[in-house]
Amino acid sequence: MVPTNVIPFPEVQYSIRCGACPECGKTDGYFNVGKEHWFICREHKTKWLGGYNLFDNWKEQTVAQTEIINEMLEDYKEVLPFRQQEKTSFKVSGE
Ligand SMILES: [Zn+2]
Repeated sequence: MVPTNVIPFPEVQYSIRCGACPECGKTDGYFNVGKEHWFICREHKTKWLGGYNLFDNWKEQTVAQTEIINEMLEDYKEVLPFRQQEKTSFKVSGE
């Protein structure tokens, strides 16, 4: 299933702040689950909690949308995100 209401997330500064997929260092966007912002990588089916109440658009989301998102996120594996400030296990190629 292709998520339809994922919010595109190209801003690099936020991917640094909120983390990125530990497999590839990218994110496809995020979903709101209540005040929680869950980021995903579609390619690796990973998800991680990026933060709480960082973006106001969670308030516009309906309960029905949240249920669909919750069901979709069950297919994704929760991971520890890669963050540039922290030295995690993510390896930059060429090092
Ligand atoms: Zn990935």
